[in-house]
Amino acid sequence: MDTLHTMNKTGLQEHYHMLKGQFDHFCAQNISLNMARGKPSPAQLDLSMDLLNVLTPKDCLQVENGIDPRNYGGLDGIPEAKGLFAKMFGVRSSQVFVGGNSSLTLMHDRVARAMTHGVEDGCLPWSKLPKVKFLCPVPSYDRHFEICALFGIEMIPIAMTEEGPDIDEIEQLVREDDAIKGMWCVPKYSNPTGITYSDEVVRRLARMQTKARDFRLFWDNAYAVHHLTNTPDELRNIFEDVAGTENENRVYMFASTSKMTFPGAGISAFISSEANITAAKKRFFSVQTIGADKINQLRHVRFFEKVGGIPALMKKHAEILKPKFAEVDRAFTASLAGKGIATWTKPKGGYFVSLNVLDGCAKRVVALAKQAGVTLTTAGATFPYGVDPRDRNIRIAPTYPSMSELEQAMKIICVCVELAAVEKLLAV
Ligand code: PMP
Repeated sequence: MDTLHTMNKTGLQEHYHMLKGQFDHFCAQNISLNMARGKPSPAQLDLSMDLLNVLTPKDCLQVENGIDPRNYGGLDGIPEAKGLFAKMFGVRSSQVFVGGNSSLTLMHDRVARAMTHGVEDGCLPWSKLPKVKFLCPVPSYDRHFEICALFGIEMIPIAMTEEGPDIDEIEQLVREDDAIKGMWCVPKYSNPTGITYSDEVVRRLARMQTKARDFRLFWDNAYAVHHLTNTPDELRNIFEDVAGTENENRVYMFASTSKMTFPGAGISAFISSEANITAAKKRFFSVQTIGADKINQLRHVRFFEKVGGIPALMKKHAEILKPKFAEVDRAFTASLAGKGIATWTKPKGGYFVSLNVLDGCAKRVVALAKQAGVTLTTAGATFPYGVDPRDRNIRIAPTYPSMSELEQAMKIICVCVELAAVEKLLAV
């Protein structure tokens, strides 16, 4: 097959009519599929049904340190839950604060506190400064950008490479500009590219000189254990790189069980230096809450024990997800490979495939797909301010639909990608 770029006008017009026929056929079928967000499928949720009955009354009386999970107390979580996150991330329990049902709430909270009170003693609240900027690797998670937008933080896009965000550019920017106070990172199986930061990128982020003393890495480790292959990516433990250096307080890590058990009904964690955790507990958390839901923490601890540990549970998730990611790649390869109109990622973990279509076509593809009954993530959502300068990136979220729905959605998406490309080439 010729790439579409080498077709003459007549060939393109014929191709357009063929694709338009297929598209109209889909539109006539009254399809309604929502692939806008990365949600686990009902089959994945079924893996965690034991959460509903794993706790016995006796369990509540056997919590470490004599904590009674039915009562107030234990601001930073029950020791077992702190230990669970500590083990997962290779840190000490004293570095873990267990939060409520959402890590996003913790991220929002950290930014809000930095705005109103500053990140540590002797640093001005960010809201007192004329300008605050965050580095934002792109494409990435839209809700991070929404937090910045809410607080008026200027977002600077940073290109992603196969190794993670462009570290040369980052080092230069943070060295020169003290208005740069933070950076959003999804360091493992990044949303949506699936990229895991290389050891070198992690090391340099940990060690780099920043003009702002109160610079923080917002290390959103949402997909730490969400592997899709038997050869998982390894993410270097950034806490080992900052330990004992002047950057010891630089890292704010966030995680949750959202895509391990029930999203919205799990437990989350804020993980940082001991000094940061102690200060946050004293200054903020103890004012804001008497503690998160310890019954749910205990439920999760016992549930993970029952299923043989988090890795065993995540393997079961992977078995459900692998065929879906394989179908995305199969469909794109069958319909789009070699045509010069799209590239896509083949992630080894996480929840998304990142699709790049012809420049200037992403919005059109998403609109066409919507017309044919498939709702995709809004084009541009993966960029600060909702603006993809090349209008080419689309986040594909294949986890929620059933296999048959996904197969149908992929056919539609592929036709829409090609139709938008042909429309563009014909318009030139
Ligand atoms: N971070 C990233 C990168 C995510 O993709 C998501 C979920 N889509 C979240 C955080 C949200 O996590 P939580 O449910 O813990 O708020």
